[in-house]
Amino acid sequence: MFNFDTSYASLGEAFFKYALPTPVQTPQVLLYNEALAKDLSLPLAYQVSKAQMDQERLQFIAAQLSGNRIADNTQPMAQAYAGHQFGYFTMLGDGRAILLGEHIAAHHSRVDVQLKGAGATPYSRRGDGRATLRAMLREYLISEAMHGLGIPTSRSLAVVTTGEKVYREEIHEGAVLARIMKSHMRVGSFEYVRHYLTKDDLLTYTRYALNRHYPDAANHEMPSVALLKAVLVQQVNLIVQWMRVGFIHGVMNTDNMSIAGETFDYGPCAFINGYDPAKVFSSIDTNGRYAFGNQPGIAHWNLSCLANALLPIIDDDTDKAVAKAKEVLDLFPGLYTQAYTEMMAAKIGFNAASCSNEVVDLIKSLLNWMKTESADYTNTFLTIQQALVDDKINQSAFFQDWLSQRNLLLDQHGISLSQAQQIMKPNNPLVIPRNHLVEAVLDQVVLGGNMEGFNALLSILQSPYQMNDAIAEYQTPPPNGDGFYATYCGT
Ligand code: AMP
Ligand code: MG
Repeated sequence: MFNFDTSYASLGEAFFKYALPTPVQTPQVLLYNEALAKDLSLPLAYQVSKAQMDQERLQFIAAQLSGNRIADNTQPMAQAYAGHQFGYFTMLGDGRAILLGEHIAAHHSRVDVQLKGAGATPYSRRGDGRATLRAMLREYLISEAMHGLGIPTSRSLAVVTTGEKVYREEIHEGAVLARIMKSHMRVGSFEYVRHYLTKDDLLTYTRYALNRHYPDAANHEMPSVALLKAVLVQQVNLIVQWMRVGFIHGVMNTDNMSIAGETFDYGPCAFINGYDPAKVFSSIDTNGRYAFGNQPGIAHWNLSCLANALLPIIDDDTDKAVAKAKEVLDLFPGLYTQAYTEMMAAKIGFNAASCSNEVVDLIKSLLNWMKTESADYTNTFLTIQQALVDDKINQSAFFQDWLSQRNLLLDQHGISLSQAQQIMKPNNPLVIPRNHLVEAVLDQVVLGGNMEGFNALLSILQSPYQMNDAIAEYQTPPPNGDGFYATYCGT
């Protein structure tokens, strides 16, 4: 099924442990991402006709993507990593995920194929290495929604049910998610190498990361500094994208920050309805460390952990190493502010060239108002864009006054209303995965065995900038706000 060529193996067994998935009882493909499969030159499930899946092919896919059958051309492994969880350093590693291998698609891109929920590994500690169907479906839905929104993310290739129970506080159906990523190298991977391996290993690992993800920087005279800077730039871009659509990752531990700049680890993540920078959904984030508005600051902090891990190979003289690392880290606030401002300006119709101080003030006053009113983040921008009529927002005197000021400013910058709409359109999604809708379709599957609602929502979320007759029912925020909606680390 896969064209495996696992370069990670060449790093040696200090970086991972070979581990095989534990076979499951009755693997069945519940979801298979045909579009992604096609992109990756993988076999398709719908060979006969669009309406009928090829059963033999499905069984083959189920066996491969549950981990029941291991191809001859690979040796699966669990990767070692550490990380700062809520600020505290700890040893981790793939405890419920197994890397099947690196697949090379026809267009020569290299991706990790990982099975999440594939059984215990040497890093499982007390965990069972399994995952619940509900959590894997949620990850599939949200990661594909992020992809639809145009945000770098891990992808979901399939959800295979196992026919086995998973025991948490309650009894759940088990499932395995096939996850595709540029790689699973994390900030925490470097922290692992720094703390448990040698300086030579750190250099090897840094070179490996550069070659794999930032080949343009691979010949830089200081690989460590080049890597830190490249990761920083990608993270700035990623967090700005999260802020654009109201995404809260929820568990931005350093082991959940990808070196390649992709969003991943969809546990307690959720989207905001009413705008509030202090918003937190995760049940375990009691201090709001990973609140919506804290995400850029936390990304910066996580990058300082990467810098810290790289110090021994930045310079033998610690003071010099720190100074060089700081020079790179200090780029973050400036780069972030500029990218964030340009993104927010685009959300209200201004291009980068017209990002004046007045535009910045306009953004600030809008956000202040949204915060006091708990105005819906997504729908406020759609109202400005005239892509949606929200009576509640329109009836506000502040909003009407703000709109006049904004139109005047557009005029001064020579931007017509229709030009402004074109600038706004790719920045303001018509739909986001609203929490209450996500939970409702998950309930339908888990309690009623019905995938219809899930598939309908998934299909809408795959094209979130495209007007569609069915879209209106997905645009309404929950009538009573978020209430006590809480998310949990997906287990
Ligand atoms: P996460 O919350 O997904 O970032 O995971 C944190 C750590 O806990 C990682 O080392 C995981 O591999 C591990 N872990 C989470 N759930 C399980 C589980 N069910 N079994 C074994 N290890 C787990
Ligand atoms: Mg994780």
